[in-house]
Amino acid sequence: MKCVYCQKEITTKSSEHVIQNAIGGFLESENICCPECNLAVEKFVDKDFVKIFSPITNNIDYLPKRASTESCYDGQVMCAGQFYDAKFKGRKIISVPKLQQERKCGLDKIKGVVPKLFYFNLQNDVFKNGISKIAFNFAIHSGINPDFLMDFVNVEKDGFNVSSIKFKNLVIPFCPLNIVDSKIEFRNEIQLYHNLILFSNGKELWCYVDLFNVFQYYVLLSEKFESSEKVLRIYAQKCQKIPLSEKHYVEDLHYVKPKHISALLTIFGVTYEECKAQRKEGEDDFSLIRRVINEKIRKESVVSSLSDLVNIGGMVEFVDLLKNSSDTGKINLYHNFSFYFDENDNLIENNFRQYFIDGDGQVKFYPHEMMDVMQSDSKMIREYSSMKFKLMCNYILKTTALGK
Ligand SMILES: [Zn+2]
Repeated sequence: MKCVYCQKEITTKSSEHVIQNAIGGFLESENICCPECNLAVEKFVDKDFVKIFSPITNNIDYLPKRASTESCYDGQVMCAGQFYDAKFKGRKIISVPKLQQERKCGLDKIKGVVPKLFYFNLQNDVFKNGISKIAFNFAIHSGINPDFLMDFVNVEKDGFNVSSIKFKNLVIPFCPLNIVDSKIEFRNEIQLYHNLILFSNGKELWCYVDLFNVFQYYVLLSEKFESSEKVLRIYAQKCQKIPLSEKHYVEDLHYVKPKHISALLTIFGVTYEECKAQRKEGEDDFSLIRRVINEKIRKESVVSSLSDLVNIGGMVEFVDLLKNSSDTGKINLYHNFSFYFDENDNLIENNFRQYFIDGDGQVKFYPHEMMDVMQSDSKMIREYSSMKFKLMCNYILKTTALGK
């Protein structure tokens, strides 16, 4: 197997996270690149990309704890009825320049400063690169031939070493274009999850990338795609702490006797070699294997069915929506609801985020319609994303120490 970036044969396996580890992506693939290019991707794509999400990664507890995850980010605070730009680090406000200037003192002397908002800077190549890489990784992980994908990837080499990696894919924002999608996106309680949907449409191959259920984009991966059947691959993963009730079997591992270890390895698909590579100093075999299996369970327990994540409450919700719609709205609502959910309220994965039904009853291809919206009504996209950011900021402020 060859590395997709440098084309060298992969001799030492290297695990690349499909969604960056620093933003909580758990899905890994050994079929993408060599160890050297893995480092190059980290340097040229991931390092700056993950900083964009600092307000989230610094404040939400589900990520594995690492001292290095504490970083700086910008936002706004309120003090005595006025808004001010502020700098944050980790879970603290570190400066409010204008306010400190006004009062000619340090932040510790100023009372009543309340965090209100965080900034997510998406208007740059760093963001596009990172989002495109996720789509690219997911396509390769799903078995798509890299030849279809390389048109949009620029790899520069300095001798044998990769000196730059850039993704040139078309990246289009998503916003809901029908009432059912609006309902899914604007639930009272924000649900934090990552979702990837890889799908083909004729000669086009697209990936819908949804990070934290807030940053939602279509990435065009190929315009020359060939396949005997329609491609559809879905990955969904929660980004929230798993309730204890779903973790009980992890605790049970403490009672496992050493003689059952080899059976456990088989059940969880872990090899002894894999465990040995992760050994901590002084750790005996039994504790090591138990720890590796625990970690595997933790990662797998966040992988969810997309149907569960987007479920809006089925028929009850539908009847409620129906009551409040106009006559033409009712028909469109009915069309799209039965287009997205079957009679048992399960999501119809073949349609979701790929197609919808417009006011004339026509089936439309979502990414193409979003391209039109981008050109004719970009205000609608801006308003949608600022509403989503607000939901995210409120979630952070409600659930973390910053808001207290
Ligand atoms: Zn390589």
